[in-house]
Amino acid sequence: MPIGAHVGVAGGYAEAVDYAVSAGCECMQVFGKSPRQWQAKPIDPAVAEAFRERLTAAGMGPVLLHTAYLINLGSSDDGLWERSHRALADELMRAEILGASFVVTHTGTRFKDAPERTAARIAEGVDRAWAEAGVTGVRLLLENTAAAGSTFGDGPDELGAVLHLLDGARPYAGVCLDTCHAHAAGWDLARGPVWQELLDGFERCCGTPVEAVHANDCLFGAGMHKDRHAWIGDGTIGYEGFAHLFADGRLDGVPVIIEMPGEVPVKDAENVSRLKRLRDASAGPSSHV
Ligand SMILES: [Zn+2]
Ligand SMILES: [Zn+2]
Repeated sequence: MPIGAHVGVAGGYAEAVDYAVSAGCECMQVFGKSPRQWQAKPIDPAVAEAFRERLTAAGMGPVLLHTAYLINLGSSDDGLWERSHRALADELMRAEILGASFVVTHTGTRFKDAPERTAARIAEGVDRAWAEAGVTGVRLLLENTAAAGSTFGDGPDELGAVLHLLDGARPYAGVCLDTCHAHAAGWDLARGPVWQELLDGFERCCGTPVEAVHANDCLFGAGMHKDRHAWIGDGTIGYEGFAHLFADGRLDGVPVIIEMPGEVPVKDAENVSRLKRLRDASAGPSSHV
């Protein structure tokens, strides 16, 4: 499992690769534009080309693009919903230009007027975005949430419901597991059997294995619905919990990305190295850290 970090691109895309290498990343995640804005100018093809060249030169594993936080495909507001599927289409096109393998998105909030229609509303938005983007080289991963407030996509059941309702986008769509979100939503990932349950659930409900992991420890306890990331081993999932991430063969080869609060560059180098130690330990005769 390649291990990497979410890396800022304010200093340039190619430069972000250099930073990722310096932090020990084997794969990386970026934003395709400011995550808190609807609009941004297109990515300059020369910038994208320099990024792709730098990735190749560095031997960097898969790149993930995380979409803007404004996207809400479950919104009851038709105007916001339209903006959301167009924004998702734009992110998909940015990912293709950048050579990213995966686009990771949150699905949005529950459809206010009729919550039971949320999955269908989101699926329709995803299909529209996919058709609008006309991309072929990226996979679109729906990320689970912390089950806080009115967000949709708490876990395997809800994400699976969306995936099964997809039409054109269905063959290209899957799931990204955020460990902090799952833990906050009620799966106590400090415990090995819960990892099994959760991965079983994704397979059963989504019909596809988990294709990417956001490995974040959790500041608050399991089931508290508080999405506050902690450094690996410093939260309520802990080292023992993250050891299970590397113990399940179903996740072999899946990119693992940390999304850590704190100052660069120490946070990324330190958390990447903590995960690498757990991965190395799981490959040895003893998996206890
Ligand atoms: Zn996310
Ligand atoms: Zn995440």
